[in-house]
Amino acid sequence: MKFHHSDTVRYLSFDIFPPEVIQAVFTRQGGISPEPWNSLNVGGTVGDERHCVRENRQRAFRALGRDPQSLFDVWQVHSADVVLANAPHASLEERVELKADAILTDNPAVTLFMRFADCTPILLHDPVRRAVGIIHAGWVGTLKQAAGEAVRAMTAAYGSRPADIRAAIGPSIGPDHYEVGPEVEEQARYVFGSDSEALFQSRPGSARLHFDLWAANTLSLRRAGVEQIEVAGLCTACHPEDWYSHRAQHGKTGRFGALIALA
Ligand SMILES: [Zn+2]
Repeated sequence: MKFHHSDTVRYLSFDIFPPEVIQAVFTRQGGISPEPWNSLNVGGTVGDERHCVRENRQRAFRALGRDPQSLFDVWQVHSADVVLANAPHASLEERVELKADAILTDNPAVTLFMRFADCTPILLHDPVRRAVGIIHAGWVGTLKQAAGEAVRAMTAAYGSRPADIRAAIGPSIGPDHYEVGPEVEEQARYVFGSDSEALFQSRPGSARLHFDLWAANTLSLRRAGVEQIEVAGLCTACHPEDWYSHRAQHGKTGRFGALIALA
């Protein structure tokens, strides 16, 4: 993982992907939105002005040399539903009619784009069948195994072998900051059996268990057959200068973007 600057925008990229993959998780730096969305907010439904969100999205795409018209996004609903992006959506406006939490494409004309503020961004690349994917996984999507579902969909759509697929898990709320209720532990046990025990930590001074989204998504990917996984290990709540955190900023915050495309 490395941080980069392009004009005003600061973003990170993963080491696991080859140069022919265009990929970024954008920090919140380098945009035009005022507080509490300062400044590179790409979320259109968090109270920020539409013209700010449009300009921020354009800056993000420009920083990676991608045409904003190549964008394909979805309405993120904490599901494990996967959409195939065969052609660009060709609008910078947030779309509401297509609900899903994973998008795949093998078309280099498409840039897959999603928005985050504590939920986990996961990027996929199959260098053999030449396909990429992006996933949005909070605890609900993680336990619905959205990551594993995206891998299975990649196999079904493009003939990908899971062992060829590389995956990267980006910044999200970390186990240090992620207290959860008993329903999360119950569902995790139902989904992952005895493997679920390693996904929870008890911390001094905290009555509740802490959930590890990075470990849970790693497990979901491994169960789907993915062996090559890079984990950023960055907690959004620990680093408010770089990331939006829904929990740390008590819901009054923006969304940072992530994108992936084939060059
Ligand atoms: Zn933290």
